[in-house]
Amino acid sequence: METITYEYEGALYVNLTNRCDCACVFCLRCNGHKGSIYADDLWLEHEPGREEALADFLRRDLASYREIVFCGFGEPMYRTDDILWLVDELKERVSALPPVRINTNGHANLILGRDVTGDLAGRIDVLSISLNGSTPGEYVAVTRPRDGAAAWDAMLDFTRRAAKTVPTVMMTIVNKDKTPDEIDACRTLAERLGARLRVREYIPD
Ligand code: SF4
Repeated sequence: METITYEYEGALYVNLTNRCDCACVFCLRCNGHKGSIYADDLWLEHEPGREEALADFLRRDLASYREIVFCGFGEPMYRTDDILWLVDELKERVSALPPVRINTNGHANLILGRDVTGDLAGRIDVLSISLNGSTPGEYVAVTRPRDGAAAWDAMLDFTRRAAKTVPTVMMTIVNKDKTPDEIDACRTLAERLGARLRVREYIPD
């Protein structure tokens, strides 16, 4: 049985795809793992359809979670249209739906070839975008995106646009081998785009 939704620390996490346009040096899925600290088996042999995912949600007491988080073993925004459909369906059925967050690499507009940020309004409460570095060179070295430096530009542009439609937009970096100056540079960059920086502690593989 594949894991579409799973619980972690009071939140409900959602796994809709393995696909990703990056190959981050630290990514569990790029390093041969099929699970994470959150759940054992996250590798999807097939991507669940939207109806299948909805049925999985509806087996749960959704109002009891502090948050619903679309993350994934891959990049969840490959499934942007399905995420938004699911949120609409859930909002119709659950009067007190918890806040909805997407953890993303910020490449949705690049991957999908259109600006999706307007569609997030009223549906997505929080975006957490991986920043991963304070310069394009560092970013490309760490995340190894299919589109090279264009992915850095796309991620920044996505953040700027999303900050106008989503109430809370965070950019995250992992605090590993970072100097205070680099963290300051990341914070300045995030704030210039209308986001705020969240520094996450490093969890060894
Ligand atoms: S963006 Fe996320 S899913 Fe994609 S390779 Fe990096 S860590 Fe893995």
